[in-house]
Parts: sequence; C-alpha cells; structure tokens
Amino acid sequence: MRHSILSLALNALSGHRRWQPTWRDAAPKPAYDVVIIGGGGHGLATAHYLASRYGIANVAVVEKGWIGSGNAGRNTTIIRSNYLLPGNNHFYELSMKLWEGLEQELNYNAMVSQRGIVNLYHSDGQRDAYARRGNSMRLHGVDAELLDREQVRAMAPFLDFDNARFPIKGGLLQRRAGTARHDAVVWGYAHAASKRGVDIIQNCEVTGFLHDGGRIAGVETTRGTIRAAKVGMAVAGHSSRVAALAGFRLPIESHVLQAFVSEALKPLIPGVITFGAGHFYVSQSDKGGLVFGGDIDGYNSYAQRGNLPVIEDVAEGGMALMPMIGRLRLLRAWGGIMDMSMDGSPIIDASPVPGLYVNAGWCYGGFKAIPASGLCFAHLLARGEPHPTAAALRLDRFERGYLLDEKGQGAQPNLH
Ligand SMILES: Cc1cc2nc3c(=O)[nH]c(=O)nc-3n(C[C@H](O)[C@H](O)[C@H](O)COP(=O)(O)OP(=O)(O)OC[C@H]3O[C@@H](n4cnc5c(N)ncnc54)[C@H](O)[C@@H]3O)c2cc1C
Repeated sequence: MRHSILSLALNALSGHRRWQPTWRDAAPKPAYDVVIIGGGGHGLATAHYLASRYGIANVAVVEKGWIGSGNAGRNTTIIRSNYLLPGNNHFYELSMKLWEGLEQELNYNAMVSQRGIVNLYHSDGQRDAYARRGNSMRLHGVDAELLDREQVRAMAPFLDFDNARFPIKGGLLQRRAGTARHDAVVWGYAHAASKRGVDIIQNCEVTGFLHDGGRIAGVETTRGTIRAAKVGMAVAGHSSRVAALAGFRLPIESHVLQAFVSEALKPLIPGVITFGAGHFYVSQSDKGGLVFGGDIDGYNSYAQRGNLPVIEDVAEGGMALMPMIGRLRLLRAWGGIMDMSMDGSPIIDASPVPGLYVNAGWCYGGFKAIPASGLCFAHLLARGEPHPTAAALRLDRFERGYLLDEKGQGAQPNLH
C-alpha cells in the first residue's frame, strides 16, 4: 500500500480496517542472487538499495528473531555527521543527506527530526579540539558552529553552568543533526524493500555456510538451506560469531551498551546534548521521555542486558550536567551488543572468504550510518568493489596501518 493523505483519509473514514501489512513476511525460497544475514537497519537498507539502485531484487534478508529486535530497535536514535577524519566525514555526511530525503524515498514516516546536536566542551583544550573538528567539517561541506558559553546558555538554560565540577565553556553545534524513530526506520526500509520483491524472512537463524570450491555458496539456517551467489553479513553485535561460522576472525570486541528512558516531561531539551567531561548524551522523545545513555560495560559480553554499575555511572553524568533531573523517575533501561572495532570505525568490505561480504564494527554510531551503510554495502555486493565513499572502510586497513582512529585512542575498543 502506498501511504498518502488520500490513503490516510480513506482509511480513517472506513474505520482503519483496510490497512495492509507494511511488508510481506516471506518464507525462504531455495535460492537467491543475494542473501543478507541480519534484519536490522543495515541489512534492510542494503536490500532496499540493492533493489532500488542496483536492480537486484532477488534478495532475501534472513533474521534470527524479528526485524529490529537487535540494536536497530535498542538505540538512542541520534543521527549526525560531525566527524573529523576524511574517510569518516564524507561517509557520515552521505548518510545525513540520505536521511534528509529518506521519508520521501521510502514512502514512510521515519520521524526524522533535525533538532541539532551540541557537544559541550569544558576546557580550553577541548575547545581547541572541537574547533579543529568543526573546521574539518566545514572544509568538507558539513555544517558546524562553535558556540561560546552564553550561546549554549541561550539554547539550554537548564544546564549547570555555575556550580559544576566541569563548568561548561561552550559547545560544537551541528544544526542538521537530530534523531529519527528507530523502529520506523526498520519498518520503512522493510516496506520499501518488500514492495520491490525482497523476501524478509524472520525466525531464521544462520547456523553455518555452504561452500563450493572455496567460495561461499549459501547459508544453512534453522529454516533450511538457502543457496546464494553472494552473502552479506550485517549482524551488528554478532559479527565475530557469524565470521567464526565462516572460518575467519574480525578485529572486533563485543560489549553491551545500555539505553534509558525517563518518565515524560513537558518539552524541555531542544535537540541532542552531549556532556564532554564524562560520557552522557540526552535527547527528548516526542512522548516527552528523556532518552539517554553513556559508557559501554567495561567487559566483553554477548548478553543483551545491562547492569547496575553502568546505570549509576550514567546517572552521575546526567546529574553533573542537569541536577534538576535528580527527582525524575527512570521508566525503562535495556542493553544492546555492539561490535567495537579496534579503531572505532566501521568495516564495509569483502571478507577473506570469497562470496561473503562484511558490514560490521559500528561501535556506538551505527544507527546514523544506516542509509549510507546500506547504499555502500549494496554497491559492494552488486559491483564487487567498494563504493567510493566507503573506500577507507576496508578490512585490511588494520594490517596495513591505515587506521581511521577518530578519537586517537589506539586499539582500545572500550575507549572509542
Ligand atoms: C543502547 C544503544 C544506543 C545506541 N545509540 C545510538 C545512537 O544514538 N546513534 C547511533 O548512530 N548509533 C547508536 N547505537 C548503535 C546502533 O544501534 C548500531 O550500530 C546499529 O543499529 C547496528 O546496525 P543494525 O541496526 O543493522 O544492527 P541490528 O539491529 O543489531 O541488526 C543485526 C541483526 O542481525 C541478527 N542476527 C545476528 N546473528 C544472526 C544470525 N546468525 N542469523 C540471522 N540473524 C542474525 C540480529 O538478531 C539482529 O536483528 C546504539 C546502540 C545501542 C546498543
């Protein structure tokens, strides 16, 4: 069904009984041109762009649970392109541009809301680093403004400017950044891909690979064998496990990141705010809840749940920034598993096993990357060569020393 004002009006007048399912829940066929493992944002976006831009619609997306049950449905929904390094900033800006036209492209309301992001700085050194980042962004055609303390105060007067241990000195603002509704992004890509003939197959876990003369020739799943000329994996926090099924290792550690939602408040927070002296980021949902998060757990885990020490740490970061939230009740908290790559940047590349392609290592930031990642991964799968915008995201950069270390923290994943 095509969504329009007319379809909305007709359905409203007929008691909302004629809405069609937004995408088709398919059963597996014996073979496809491309199988994509993982029904999160990246997998579904890849399928959509394969069908819409590269004319390859004989595609299956296989998901072990239900689509969006992984990180796509667990994140804090921030989208931005405030990156420093060439290789990252072009890629994330491509994503930002795709976000800006996404709802029209998918014919789906993904609630893309460009309310801006402010990264606060609390020292002269941090201001210099943000000035450098802002200059790099502007040199690459990305919007950025360095704000002083009073400009930040005008935007967010409720922050603690005067009594804090780490006083706020200013911030780096990207006005085009903001948030998008995570579930709607998943459903929107599923809607658009399914309309073009892509099979979205749920409750279908990949348990092994078919090999044919050294090449990957398909996947073994809990719903049977599916043959495919090419297989792409976009399994977020499970990349190292799926790579192990195919017989290779990735430069990745897995950690849990938690997200939190408070009870609803009247509109308060204008966009996204991040605390530069600790690790805390917050925005406000359309329903009024504060949506926030902070650091990952310090140890490796595949458990999709968090723990109390991190809740305390994140709450302390929030209180340092906004003491007024002290009496606010927390409604929900949950965890997602993140692939932390050794330089903090993602990987979109062919794997060491011919016929298998890797989309992994998104660390804290893969939600904002969904459109560009889908487009670039689709290009790689269709053409067999990297999309020019993702040329720096090759797997062999770790061997060759061409790291994309945005934070300059070295091979210490928990610091990225
Ligand atoms: C708490 C939290 C907050 C975050 N906040 C942000 C943010 O504000 N902004 C941002 O840009 N990023 C954020 N991220 C990161 C972002 O959510 C992820 O990087 C991104 O969603 C990962 O890509 P995906 O959506 O495709 O992954 P997922 O949605 O995790 O998709 C992968 C899918 O693969 C499936 N799968 C795994 N193994 C198999 C198998 N063997 N067979 C079949 N299917 C399999 C999983 O079930 C899963 O559904 C956050 C992450 C978390 C956890």
